[in-house]
Amino acid sequence: MDKKNILLLTTGGTIASVPGGDGLVPQRSQVMERELEQLRTYYDITVRDVMCLDSSNIRPEEWQLIARRIFEDRDGFDGIVVSHGTDTMAYTASAVTYMLPDIDLPVVFTGSQLPLADMLSDGPDNLRTAFAMAAAGHPGVFLAFDRKVMLGCRAVKVRASGFSAFESVNARYAARVSNRGLVVDTQALPQPRKPARLLDAISQNVFLLKLTPGLNPAIFDMLGAMGYKGIVIEAFGLGGMNVLHRGLRGIRRCVEDGVSVVVTTQCLYDSADLEVYQVGSKLLELGVIQGRDMTTEAAMTKLMWAIGQGLEPEEIRELFARNLAGEITL
Ligand code: ASP
Repeated sequence: MDKKNILLLTTGGTIASVPGGDGLVPQRSQVMERELEQLRTYYDITVRDVMCLDSSNIRPEEWQLIARRIFEDRDGFDGIVVSHGTDTMAYTASAVTYMLPDIDLPVVFTGSQLPLADMLSDGPDNLRTAFAMAAAGHPGVFLAFDRKVMLGCRAVKVRASGFSAFESVNARYAARVSNRGLVVDTQALPQPRKPARLLDAISQNVFLLKLTPGLNPAIFDMLGAMGYKGIVIEAFGLGGMNVLHRGLRGIRRCVEDGVSVVVTTQCLYDSADLEVYQVGSKLLELGVIQGRDMTTEAAMTKLMWAIGQGLEPEEIRELFARNLAGEITL
């Protein structure tokens, strides 16, 4: 059988790191060569280094660069694997999902908790799962880790050091490795409907606010004054917020000034639903947008992308009532 043609785009991260004088430092792809040599038995692999960064240093500019490279370099490949640091990989995978609507081939992000240079690294396993998914022919943006594959826009890093570092939050896994090989759950896959596009404009004027009891509501005025165009609030439980003690004044002003305010929950699992409690429905009356069961990473990047696309607040509200790539359950 013909080998599948897979493009590996490297961006750095622990998977490509070696010890330096002051800690692990990412290197270019040559540190991966030994592992790739083995994978070449199964796939034709082309490697391109896009950047060489600890993912803590990756910004929206780098998301754009990665999305452009995927879009522009994809011709002739069956799938693309992107190696990436784990710390911000869920943000990148989510942002790239929105930047590449209806992407027409599998794009699979992966990384590792231990460098490939370490004999006990989880990198070889993660790379193998990512390559298998990239070769399996299901279009979409995915993240592969610890023998599981999830939608990029549902991935959350849940462990700082454990090997089972990523979970698919509020969504089924797209695939798992079992004794039958890679078993894909076709019900969990995104369904591309149009030709693939590159829509990589993104705004950095979005703030993430984690609510705490007694938060000074003046923070919302400050955010408005700083020019933020979007705020994601991680509210309590089903989406509650302090509505007493003039708690809502700042939010009202933000919404009136055209700032899009999305409310999610600081609970990792399940969905925010502002209609259940009075402390939620008061927020809805102000015109905030329901983030429902989106992960924080998916809500932040969707809002950054929507504002970057030049949408008006009403259009942004409509966009959040739509499922673009599996990021939200409606
Ligand atoms: N600090 C590293 C990074 O995100 C962690 C990792 O890759 O696991 O680049």
